[in-house]
Amino acid sequence: MSRGPVLAARLQGFGTTVFAEMSALAVATGSINLGQGFPDYPGPPEVLDVARNAIGTAADQYPPGPGIPELRSAIAEHQQRFSGLAYDPDTEVLVTAGATEALAAVMLALLEPGDEVVLLEPVYDSYSASVAMAGGVVRPVPLHPPAGGDGHWTFDPADLRAAVTPRTRLLLLNTPHNPTGTVLTADELAVLGKLAVAHDLLVVTDEVYEHLVFDGARHVSPATVPGLRERTLVVSSAGKTFNVTGWKVGWICGPAALVAAVRTAKQFLTYVNAGPFQPAVAAGLRLPDGYFTALARDLQGRRDVLVRGLRDAGLPVVSPEATYFATVDVRPVQPDGDGLAFCRSLPARAGLVAVPSGVFYTPEHAHLGRHLVRFAFSKGDGVLAEAVRRLVGMGRAGAGSA
Ligand SMILES: *Cc1c(COP(=O)(O)O)cnc(C)c1O
Repeated sequence: MSRGPVLAARLQGFGTTVFAEMSALAVATGSINLGQGFPDYPGPPEVLDVARNAIGTAADQYPPGPGIPELRSAIAEHQQRFSGLAYDPDTEVLVTAGATEALAAVMLALLEPGDEVVLLEPVYDSYSASVAMAGGVVRPVPLHPPAGGDGHWTFDPADLRAAVTPRTRLLLLNTPHNPTGTVLTADELAVLGKLAVAHDLLVVTDEVYEHLVFDGARHVSPATVPGLRERTLVVSSAGKTFNVTGWKVGWICGPAALVAAVRTAKQFLTYVNAGPFQPAVAAGLRLPDGYFTALARDLQGRRDVLVRGLRDAGLPVVSPEATYFATVDVRPVQPDGDGLAFCRSLPARAGLVAVPSGVFYTPEHAHLGRHLVRFAFSKGDGVLAEAVRRLVGMGRAGAGSA
C-alpha cells in the first residue's frame, strides 16, 4: 500500500457503482427493485430449449474464436431482415461476450491514447470506463428532454459540432437510447452521419434495444445512413431481445478490416464464451417477425402501466419511445431536486428502488441529470402492479404531509 492507490489512475472515479448500492438497498429493505434493467420473466421456450439440449454436447467446449458459423449466419440474416444491410458472416460478423465486451474490445482495438470519443449523454455506464481503459477521452454531447413533457430527447447540432476536435476518432451512438428511451430519427442520424463523414470518424452504434420500440417509433440502424456502412461497427446482443441478460451473447457487424481489428483485441479478453448459448441465440434470431412485434407490444403495455403510475404519483415523465426505462423529474416530490437523495429515501417512502440518473453523466454535466431518476418497467404484471400501488401511495402520503 506504500506505493499509493492500488487502482490505476485511468480507472480513478470508476469505483463501485450506485447500481450496487441500490440493489443492496433493495435486498436489505425488501423493496421492489426497478433499478437494474433486466426482465423478471423468461425468454421464448424455443430458444431456451436449444440451450438446454446443447449442454452435455460438444457445444460445452471452446467454440471457434469468431463464434459458431450457425450463429454468425443467423446474425447476418437478422441484419439483412431488419436493417436491409448485407454482412459476410465469415469476415464481417464477430460474436462477443455481450455488447459490453464488444464495446470494450472496440475501444481497445481502435483508440490510441488521447483519442477522443464523442457520445450522447446521459450515457450507458460502461462506455466511459471502456474508453478510459483504452486511454481515450470522452467528449459528451448532452441530450435534452422535450420542453413540454411529451416528445423526444434530442441534441443540439451546435453542441455536436463543438465536441469534435482534431483528436476525435470515434462517434459512439446508442439507439434506442438507455436511459432516456429516445429513438434517434432519420433526420438526427443524417446530422450525425454528415458529421462522421466530414471528419472521417469511425462510428460505433449500440443497438441492444433495437426490437424494444413502441408506438409509431421506428429503429433505424445508423449503418444504413449514406456513407456510414463502411465506417460503422454495429453492436447488439441477445440479452434484451430474448430476455436472457445473463447469457452475455453479443455481436458486432461491420467492414472486414474493422471487425478484424476488434477480433484482435477480443481474442485476448475472453477469447470465446457461451458455447451452449450460441446455437440458442441463432435459433432466436431466426424466429418469425411475429416474435419481435409481440415482444415490443408486450413491453409497451408494461411501459404504459408504469408511466401512468409515475404520473399518478406526481412525477413528471417523458413516455419513452423504446427500451426498458422511464426517466422522471423528482423535483415535485423532492424539493431540493437531489435524485440520489430521492433514491436513497425511496425504499422507506414507497418500498421501491430506482437509479439516480446522475450516474449516467460525466462530472462536467452532472448538473443536467441531478434531478432525474430512472425506473425500469421490464417486470412481470404482478410486480409492476404492486410497484404502481406503492408509487401512487407515496404520492398521496406526500400530498398529505406537505
Ligand atoms: C444492457 C445494455 C448493454 C449490455 O449488453 P450485454 O449484452 O449484457 O453486455 C449494452 N448497452 C446498453 C445500452 C444496455 O442497456
